[in-house]
Amino acid sequence: MPDDGCKSIVDRIGVWIRDGTSRGEREAVRGHLAVCRRCRDLVEELVDVAGGLARVAA
Ligand SMILES: [Zn+2]
Repeated sequence: MPDDGCKSIVDRIGVWIRDGTSRGEREAVRGHLAVCRRCRDLVEELVDVAGGLARVAA
């Protein structure tokens, strides 16, 4: 099952990192990350970037 659910999750990750998703969406993202290593890696990259931006903005 190639890319099963990844696209919809990736679309939400940017918002999810900033805690802008609804509770149901957060759980969907978390559930997907638990089983999808590729998306976890992506999240780690984006969190690094977001953290860097937050420091710059602060
Ligand atoms: Zn995925």
